[in-house]
Amino acid sequence: MDLFEYQARDLFEKHGVPVLAAAIATTADEAEAAATKIGGKVVVKAQVKVGGRGKAGGVKLAENPADAREKAAAILGMDIKGHEVRTVMIAAAAPIESEYYLAILLDRSNRTFLVMASVSGGMDIEEVAHTAPEKLAKIPVSAVDGISLAKATEIVAAANFPSDVADQVAQVLLKLWEVFQSEDATLVEVNPLVKTKDGKVIALDGKITLDDNAEFRQPGHEALVDHAATNALEAAAKAKNLNYVKLDGEVGIIGNGAGLVMSTLDVVAYAGQKHGGVRPANFLDIGGGASAQIMADGLSIILGDKDVKSVFVNVFGGITACDAVADGIVQALELLGDKATKPIVVRLDGNNVVEGRAILAKAAHPLIEQADTMDGAANRAAELAAK
Ligand code: GDP
Ligand code: MN
Repeated sequence: MDLFEYQARDLFEKHGVPVLAAAIATTADEAEAAATKIGGKVVVKAQVKVGGRGKAGGVKLAENPADAREKAAAILGMDIKGHEVRTVMIAAAAPIESEYYLAILLDRSNRTFLVMASVSGGMDIEEVAHTAPEKLAKIPVSAVDGISLAKATEIVAAANFPSDVADQVAQVLLKLWEVFQSEDATLVEVNPLVKTKDGKVIALDGKITLDDNAEFRQPGHEALVDHAATNALEAAAKAKNLNYVKLDGEVGIIGNGAGLVMSTLDVVAYAGQKHGGVRPANFLDIGGGASAQIMADGLSIILGDKDVKSVFVNVFGGITACDAVADGIVQALELLGDKATKPIVVRLDGNNVVEGRAILAKAAHPLIEQADTMDGAANRAAELAAK
C-alpha cells in the first residue's frame, strides 16, 4: 500500500524524523483554519498518490491564511495525472537553502535493502539519476545489520553531504531506518530533504510504501487504507460477481484461474522493475467459463481504474478453449467501444491456442497486441504502462 504524503509525514513524526507542523483539509474553509493555526507562510500541497505534483501545479506557497484558502480552492478538485485531489495538506513553509534526496528501499533483484542518497535532490531527481548517475549514491544495506550510526556515516560520506549537515543527515537516516523496519515498509523516500537557511535538516516531502504481507502484525495500518479509492471499483466488481481485488500498481490483470492470476501478478511485478517499478493494478480471476460478457465486465472494471495504464490478459485455455476466449475478447471490445482506451497485451495458451490467436490476429484490433509467452507479455505490458 502506498501512503499519502500526510500519512508518511505522520509516520516520520512518530519515529522522530524532523518534519514541520501540518494539517489536512478537504475544503477551502478548513485550509484557511489550518493555515491560521500553523501561522506564518504555509505550503498548500495536493494529496495524491502520484509523483511530480510540484510540476503539475499541486504545490503552492501561501503568504497568509486568506492566500492559503485561495490556493487550496484552486488545488482541490484538480486532476493530477488522472488523480482527483480530494485533500490538501497545509504545512508550515520552510526557507530552503539546499534540497537533498534520501531513500531506503527493498531491492528485490539484488535481494537486499538499498539506500539511495544525493545532494542534488528536489523535483529533478529522476533527471539527475539519468544524466549524472554519479550524483546518486547507492549503498546496499543488509537486512541483518540494518543502518547503524557507522553505516549512516558511511552513506553520508559516499553521497558527499557537506560537513555542516553530515551529522544531522546521519541521524535522519537512523530514524528513517526505524520507520522502514518497524513499520514494515518496502520504500521510504524523502524528496526533498532540505537544509533550511538556519541550518536545520528537515523532511519536506515523504513517500512510503508499506508491505501488505506484514498486515497481520501491523494492526494500526488498516486505518491508513484509502477506502474511498478502493471501494468504488471493488463494489462495481462485486455487483458483477467478479473475483476482483484492487492493488496499487498500473498494469491491469485479467486471467482465468486464481493460481494463474497469482503467478501473473508475480511476473508483472518482476518485469516492472525494469520499467520504472510499475506493478500490477489488480487481481481479477474471470474463472473457467469466461463468456464474452464476463470478459467485457472484467475489462470495463479494469479500464475504469484511473491507475491502469496497460492491461495484460493471461488465459490458459482448458474447458473454455482459447478460440472461445478470443471471441470473448473481440466481442468485449465491441461492447466497450470508445470506453476501451488502453493497450491490451494478450497471451493465450492451451486448448485450441492456434485458433484463438488466429481470431485475434484477424480482428486486428488497434489496442490488442499478442505475446507468445507469459514473461514476454508481462514485460510488454509493463513497458506500455511505463510509457
Ligand atoms: P512533489 O513535486 O510531488 O515531489 O512535491 P514536493 O513536496 O517535493 O514539493 C515540490 C517542490 O516544492 C520542492 O522540491 C520545493 O522546491 C518546493 N517546496 C515544497 N515545500 C516547500 C516549502 O516549505 N518552502 C519552499 N520554499 N518550497 C517548498
Ligand atoms: Mn517531492
